[in-house]
Amino acid sequence: MRWHVRRWCSTLTWQYRVAAVPALSQRHFGYARATVTRTAVNVSTAVSLATRTTLRVGGPAAEFVEARTEADAIAAVADADAHGMPVLILGGGSNVLIGDAGFDGRVVAMAIRGITDEADMCSGAMVTVAAGENWDALVARAVNNGWTGIEALSGIPGLVGGTPIQNVGAYGQDVSETIARVRTYDRLEARLQTFFAADCGFAYRTSRFKTDPGRYLILDVTFQFGLGDLGAPVAYLELARRLGVELGERAPLADVRRAVLEIRASKGMVLDDADYDTWSAGSFFTNPILDGAAAAGLPADASRWRVGDGTVKTSAAWLIEHAGFHRGHGDGPATVSTKHTLALTNRGTATADDVVALAREIRDGVRARFGVELVPEPVLVGVEL
Ligand SMILES: Cc1cc2nc3c(=O)[nH]c(=O)nc-3n(C[C@H](O)[C@H](O)[C@H](O)COP(=O)(O)OP(=O)(O)OC[C@H]3O[C@@H](n4cnc5c(N)ncnc54)[C@H](O)[C@@H]3O)c2cc1C
Repeated sequence: MRWHVRRWCSTLTWQYRVAAVPALSQRHFGYARATVTRTAVNVSTAVSLATRTTLRVGGPAAEFVEARTEADAIAAVADADAHGMPVLILGGGSNVLIGDAGFDGRVVAMAIRGITDEADMCSGAMVTVAAGENWDALVARAVNNGWTGIEALSGIPGLVGGTPIQNVGAYGQDVSETIARVRTYDRLEARLQTFFAADCGFAYRTSRFKTDPGRYLILDVTFQFGLGDLGAPVAYLELARRLGVELGERAPLADVRRAVLEIRASKGMVLDDADYDTWSAGSFFTNPILDGAAAAGLPADASRWRVGDGTVKTSAAWLIEHAGFHRGHGDGPATVSTKHTLALTNRGTATADDVVALAREIRDGVRARFGVELVPEPVLVGVEL
């Protein structure tokens, strides 16, 4: 591939023309190669990242590109890569904690829109959704259209492209259960790659996109939904109780969505500008997965679920509460949510340093009390715990 690069110095616009593109070729080991097209890049400077994250902290981006088309997104990333400039891909900013110094590189905000769907009674609905589409709007559309499998993921903030990263999940559903494939631009190999679900490395709150951070720019996600009026079997006790069904029973899609939104709102887990309990990144720590010996060392009343391979998942919320950090803990501008122990919140004037200090206090307290190391769920940018 040959590059012709020309910079328009006065306008901070970069323009590219790509001479050669590889032909589409399907590889037997599960991903497809395809053409890459690059176009002009419009760059803004000194954009506040606090305005772009749900925690509402974070300093400025040295360079900021809002990518409205796939070609824009690829050009913005490839150009930064060609110049050795650090890149941060941003979706809805609901799973990041960005430091007060900001990001000394190029932030590429995903604003690519578009949904195509095809449904038949055999394979259900195959729905391809651009990375910049709003996740909860997709869930609402699925419920209205009788597409089953993501109704319990109602109310999760962020964009569709962010959902495969940590295999978002809630109330007994994980997004990996309905993802058929993820189309990406691979920054390392500078080409398009499509991963089928089996090659995405999905597990609890992780995927190959999370474990190989920054390598893949997710362009779109294809879902395969079932068709019907009833949701998937309810797999979460609190949700089953709210719906008045047994675990494993089904309930109407619209009822599941309504119940999930009600439960989430009561926990401050649906974004609300007027409610500081929602100025968060959702759950700040993942539920620890422990080996048998470590799990045996926990108090008898600690929550635990067998995961397989002898490992046990325990509840981060339980550990935090029993280490003495209750709802509302903290007297600074960053506190534990008054509705949910797992959410660290900005009470209006917090900085990233305030959130980090609170997170360290909780992590250290849980380690001292139970010997368990809590792992943050949000992606940390320019900060360390
Ligand atoms: C109130 C609240 C409740 C939440 N509840 C849940 C929940 O129930 N379950 C759950 O799993 N999560 C939950 N979250 C976390 C978060 O909403 C999800 O992880 C969401 O999918 C993140 O998407 P985003 O677009 O905001 O990603 P961002 O926060 O913008 O980015 C997160 C990471 O993904 C990368 N990224 C984003 N888009 C792309 C892309 N197109 N290509 C490549 N990399 C990309 C970023 O570089 C970053 O590393 C919650 C968050 C909040 C604030």
